[in-house]
Amino acid sequence: MTDLIARREALLGPNVPTFYDDPVHIVRGEGVWLYDAKGRRYLDCYNNVAHLGHCHPRVVEAIAHQAAQLNTHSRYLHEGILDYGERLVAKFDHGLSQMLMTCTGSEANDVALRMAQAVTGKTGLIATDNTYHGNTTAVAHLSTRRPPIGGYPPHIRRVPAPDSLAPLGGSPKAQAKAFAANVAQAIEELEQAGHGFAGLMLCPIFANEGMPGLAPGFLDATVNVVKRAGGLILCDEVQPGFGRLGSHWWGHELLGFAPDLVTLGKPMGNGHPVAAVVARPDVMAAFRNAFGYFNTFAGNPVSCAAANAVLDVIEDEGLVENAEAVGAYALGLLLELRHPLIADVRGLGLFFAIEFARDGLPDGAFCGRVVEAAKDRGILLGRVGRAQHILKMRPPLPFSRENAQMLATTLKDILQEMPA
Ligand code: PMP
Repeated sequence: MTDLIARREALLGPNVPTFYDDPVHIVRGEGVWLYDAKGRRYLDCYNNVAHLGHCHPRVVEAIAHQAAQLNTHSRYLHEGILDYGERLVAKFDHGLSQMLMTCTGSEANDVALRMAQAVTGKTGLIATDNTYHGNTTAVAHLSTRRPPIGGYPPHIRRVPAPDSLAPLGGSPKAQAKAFAANVAQAIEELEQAGHGFAGLMLCPIFANEGMPGLAPGFLDATVNVVKRAGGLILCDEVQPGFGRLGSHWWGHELLGFAPDLVTLGKPMGNGHPVAAVVARPDVMAAFRNAFGYFNTFAGNPVSCAAANAVLDVIEDEGLVENAEAVGAYALGLLLELRHPLIADVRGLGLFFAIEFARDGLPDGAFCGRVVEAAKDRGILLGRVGRAQHILKMRPPLPFSRENAQMLATTLKDILQEMPA
């Protein structure tokens, strides 16, 4: 292991950091479990990419079968991309009837930003002040983790993210109103600065902001403000999409608003790099006229076979229903956890958050200790939030009640042994 760490440091430099003080050497995955080189197993409650469980045999088989037959770019006629696209767009309303495939969520979001600019002829973009939408130069400008060299470009504006510890304006209704008012002000500033307003990019459940548990309707006023100003709602479904929320396939359905386009990624290929933008034909046409686009690997037959198999398995194994039923059960168990630093416990389907605060202020250090302790006890968890103070749990969708009990019991034991 020390050897692997040294080789990584020498070869990969600082740009591929590992998780944990003492990194884990994973060699195999199966279902909800990951196995390290010594054969120790870990319950994966972190990785929302392995949506159907790690190495799902039907996805593995679909990839292997197609890879042995043909893998090339999307400029020849092929049924794979069409069979997949027809199934995918059938899962959307609001006229979102066309698909453009990419390889990563970042690329999908990069395209989405350009689509908004193509439709409106304007450049101004808005995102929240505590978010992540990907790693291309344009998309990274929306993220707030590190300011770019030379500062953020002036056509980017940021609005305060919904925050459960310090809700803007207090009540949920007041917070929704305040969020919309901040978007309206940012639009006004963009207009005055001469950039004009192209679009607002957001995750409908604000996953990277810490999934603050917003009620349906939260975004209604904001959507009205954006539409009245002639901008587009760019809905990043990379985290909530494909049924993780249990009650709905997509986050925007849960919140109850109509996006102008949707971006997809992570779970779409169960680990195979496949992502997409789903949009209205008029948006696709404007993008084509303004930019043109080709992506060498996107939409290749192997990616489409993987993505098609993902849809098959979600449907055949009833995974959305499982996310709803086991999600509710697991949330019930997590809500029983007691610790002076727990500020909130919330969940949507198989997406859970436990927020830690000390005297009303986020406690990222404590949350970090919980993540390390859980790893030592065989459970992999993540962290989000302004101060990385929120435990983030997104297990594969076949998560069982027994898995949920193991998660809750382990957290209970850890919290009991960790005084405030
Ligand atoms: N959008 C959101 C909400 C994400 O969380 C991420 C990745 N964490 C991305 C986009 C970028 O996706 P990718 O890493 O596939 O480029």
